Amino acid sequence: SSVMEKILQRKSIRMRNLQRTWQDSPEGVKMLNFRNSLPAYKEKDGLLSAIARNQVIVISGETGCGKTTQLPQYVLESEIESGRGAFCNIICTQPRRISAMAVAERVSAERGENLGETVGYKVRLEGMKGKNTHLLFCTSGILLRRLLGDRNLNGVTHVFVDEIHERGMNEDFLLIVLKDLLPRRRDLRLILMSATLNAELFSNYFGGAPTIHIPGFTYPVRAQFLEDILEKTGYKLTSFNQIDDYGQEKLWKTQRQLMPRKRKNQITALVEDALQNSSFEGYSSRARDSLASWTPDCIGFNLIEAILCHICRKERPGAVLVFMTGWDDISCLRDQLRAHPLLGDPNRVLVLTCHGSMATSEQKLIFENPPPNIRKIVLATNMAEASITINDIVFVVDCGKAKETTYDALNNTPCLLPSWISKASARQRRGRAGRVQPGECYHLYPRCVYDAFAEYQLPELLRTPLNSLCLQIKSLQVGSIGEFLSAALQPPEPLTVQNAVEFLKMIGALDEQENLTNLGRYLSVLPVDPKLGKMLIMGAVFRCLDPVLTVVSGLSVRDPFLLPQDKKDLAGTAKSRFSAKDYSDHMALVRAYEGWKDAEREGSAYEYCWRNFLSAQTLQAIHSLRKQFSFILKDSGLLDADSSINNSLSHNQPLVRAIICSGLFPGIASVVHREKSLSFKTMDDGQVLLYANSVNAKYQTIPYPWLVFSEKVKVNTVFIRDSTGVSDSVLILFGGTLIRGEMAGHLKMLDGYIDFFMDPSLTECYWNLKAELDNLVQR
Ligand code: ADP
Ligand code: MG
Repeated sequence: SSVMEKILQRKSIRMRNLQRTWQDSPEGVKMLNFRNSLPAYKEKDGLLSAIARNQVIVISGETGCGKTTQLPQYVLESEIESGRGAFCNIICTQPRRISAMAVAERVSAERGENLGETVGYKVRLEGMKGKNTHLLFCTSGILLRRLLGDRNLNGVTHVFVDEIHERGMNEDFLLIVLKDLLPRRRDLRLILMSATLNAELFSNYFGGAPTIHIPGFTYPVRAQFLEDILEKTGYKLTSFNQIDDYGQEKLWKTQRQLMPRKRKNQITALVEDALQNSSFEGYSSRARDSLASWTPDCIGFNLIEAILCHICRKERPGAVLVFMTGWDDISCLRDQLRAHPLLGDPNRVLVLTCHGSMATSEQKLIFENPPPNIRKIVLATNMAEASITINDIVFVVDCGKAKETTYDALNNTPCLLPSWISKASARQRRGRAGRVQPGECYHLYPRCVYDAFAEYQLPELLRTPLNSLCLQIKSLQVGSIGEFLSAALQPPEPLTVQNAVEFLKMIGALDEQENLTNLGRYLSVLPVDPKLGKMLIMGAVFRCLDPVLTVVSGLSVRDPFLLPQDKKDLAGTAKSRFSAKDYSDHMALVRAYEGWKDAEREGSAYEYCWRNFLSAQTLQAIHSLRKQFSFILKDSGLLDADSSINNSLSHNQPLVRAIICSGLFPGIASVVHREKSLSFKTMDDGQVLLYANSVNAKYQTIPYPWLVFSEKVKVNTVFIRDSTGVSDSVLILFGGTLIRGEMAGHLKMLDGYIDFFMDPSLTECYWNLKAELDNLVQR
C-alpha cells in the first residue's frame, strides 16, 4: 500500500502542476477573474475551513451565487494545492440529469480541461468519467444506486447534495441513507446546498449542523401581476356577467374551444372575479374551479404572445425566460410563435426551449449570447427555476404553475396536473430576471392568487407512489421499509408505503414476508420502474426481446405519436394505421418504431415521421434507450450472447402481448359492453376513460375481456393511456402471481385450455421456459 501511496503522491504533484499552469495562462486568468467575481468567492476561506471542521454543513445562497460550480471546485482545488489531489474523491449530486451534465461541462471548462478528465458526470445510462476523475457530478439516483453496492461509500471523501430545497424523493431518500452512514464514516464530509433560506430544517435533521449563508447580490426585479399586465398588453377586462349563462362544465369546455378573441373575454372575466376577492378561499366555487383548471393553454398562449410582443417592441434589450408547465405547452407555444410576424422572424427573435429531454447541442445555445439586435426568448419548464442559470435574462414570464405528480393514496392513482407553484418557487422564478441588471417579472396570475400560494412545495416523498423507492430500500438491506422511511425528514403516509409493498408483492418482487425475491433483486438493479423492469426480464426469458425493448423504452421516454390540437383526427387516423386491428397501442408503437427503422435505412425517415404524425426526436430517444437497456440486460446475464436466440419468438404476437400483460399487471381494466358503447372498469370498480388517441378508443366492441394499461392518470376524470387487449387465460398465466410459483395447481387445470394453448408454439415455449423462469424467480 505504500507503493500505492507513492503513486498517488506523484499523481497529486502532477495535478498541482497542471492546475497552476492553467491558472497562470491568459484564459485561465480571465476565467479566474470571472469566478472570483461570484458571491461565493468571498466566503471561500470560511467555507473551506467549516468543511474541514464539521462533518456536515448546510449552505444556502441565491441561485447563481456559485454554489454548484464553485464550492465542489474550491474543495478540489484546495486538495490539489495541498498536494492531496489524487487522494480526494468528491461527489456532487443534482436532482436532474441535464443539470449534472451541464454543470460538469462548465466546471471542466473553468478548469481548462475536457469533460471526463478531473471532472466528470454520471447520469442514468450515460456518463463521462475517467480514471483521473476526482470530482463527479451525478444525479441523486446514481449515488443511491452506488450506495446499494457500496454501503460505506469507500474512497469517497466529500459528498455535496445540491438543491435540497426542492425536496425531491431521491434527495430525501439519500439524506436518510447518508445520515445513517455518517457515524460509520467519520472522515466523510457532507455538504448540503440549497437556494432558499430554510436551512434550519436540514440543520436540525443533522443534529444542529452549522449553516452558512452566502449573501448574494441581485438587482431588484419588479413584479407585475396579471392586473398590471392586462393593462399593458391591451387586454380589456369584461364583466363577469357576460359569462353567467355558462354552466361550470360548459365554461371549462369553451375555454378550450372558443376562438381566441372570445376566450380572452372569458378569462379576463374570471380574472376580474378573482380580483374582487382578496383570497383564494373567497372565490365563488365556480371561479375557483375554473382557476384550478387554468393552465396557460386555457389562459391562452395569446396573452403570453402579447407580453412577448410588448417586450420585443417596447422594452430595453435583454433575454426573456418563459416558465411553462411542460414540454407539450412549450412545443405548442413555440409553434404558435413561429407563425407570428414579429416573434417568428429569425432576424429579430431567437426562440429556444429548455426542458428535461433536450439535446446537448440545444442546451449550449441557451447559455450563449444571441447575435446583436436579436432577442433571445427561452421557453422553459421549471427546470430553469434553480438548477440552470442563464445570465442575460432580464424578463421573466411566469405562468404560475408547474406540472407535478401528486399521488392519491386512497385510490392508488398518480395524478399529473399542473398545479400552482409555491411562493418560494414564484420568488425564485422572479429572481432569474435580476442577474445582470434590474429586471421585470410578469406573473400571469392576480396578486391575490399569489398571496394564497403555499410557502413551500410539498416534498415529493409525500406526493408520489413509492414502488421503486421501496424496492431500493429493500435491496439496501436496512430492515423494514416502514421503519426506514419513518426516519425521513417528513415521513410518508403509512397507507402509501403499504400500497407500494402490496404492489411489489403482487408483481413478485417481494415475498409474503416482504423479503426480496430473485426477481426483486434483478429489478432493483434495472434503472426503470419495477413494472417495466419486469417486462424486460420476461421479454428476455421468453425470447421476444426486440418488441419488448421497444415497448419498455417507449413507455419510459414518452409517446412518439404526436397529437396536434388542430389535427387530432388526422393524427388519430395515422396512428390507427399501425394498429392492424389488434387492439393494442403497445403493438402500434412497436410497428411505428420498426417502420421508422426501415424508413431510416431507406433515407426517408423524415417523410415517414411527417406523414405518420410521429416525433423523430422521441423515436431517436427510444432507439438509444433500447440500446442501453439491452446492454444492461446483457450485463446482468439475462441475455444469450447470440442475439438471434433472444429474439427467436419475437414474431409470436400472442406471446409478446402476454409479456406486455406480465409487465403491466395489475394495471388492468375490464371491458364492459353496453348497447353501442363501451365502458371500462378497473379492479377497484372505478370507471376509467381511454385517451382519445388510443387505438382502442374508436371501437364499439373489443373482442377481449380485459385491457392492460401502462398508466392511469387523473386529469379531472381518470384516464388510461396506452392499452392492449388480453384474454382471460393470458391474464391468469401472466398476471402477477404466476411467477411466484403459486399457480402450479391452476396450470394443471388449464392444461389444453383456450386460446393461449391453441397456439402450439406458445404452449411449447411456455412449458420449456417455465422451468427457466421458476429458476429465476424462486428464492
Ligand atoms: P448556483 O449553484 O449558486 O445557482 P452556479 O454555480 O450554477 O450557481 O453558477 C454560478 C455562475 O456561473 C452563474 O452565475 C453563471 O454566471 C455561471 N455559469 C454557470 N453555468 C454556466 C455555463 N454553462 N456557461 C456560462 N456560465 C455559467
Ligand atoms: Mg446550483
